[in-house]
Amino acid sequence: MKRFTVLSIMAILCIMLMAAGCGTDQAEKAKQEGLVRGACQDNLRTIDSAVMQYSASNMGSYPRSIDQLVPTYLREAPECMTGGPYTLSKTTPPRAVCPNGHTY
Ligand SMILES: [Zn+2]
Repeated sequence: MKRFTVLSIMAILCIMLMAAGCGTDQAEKAKQEGLVRGACQDNLRTIDSAVMQYSASNMGSYPRSIDQLVPTYLREAPECMTGGPYTLSKTTPPRAVCPNGHTY
């Protein structure tokens, strides 16, 4: 009976440690995702402001692709940290669209 109790406590400790480890991983993952999203939002804002600069210098016309912004308005076409190039929406004015669905 006593032996059973000790084993039970050890089992409970193990589960608690595993749960704590799991929670840390989740928090770390959420933090990483937050950083990626933040960096992506910065890219989206940068592209959108480059679109506005392009429009101001081209009598109000808008670029159809991000390539048209490089290298005059953007040093290089940024990519989302999750992967994939940005595109421009077909709206007027066009807005930067993340291939991974990030928005700002
Ligand atoms: Zn993104």
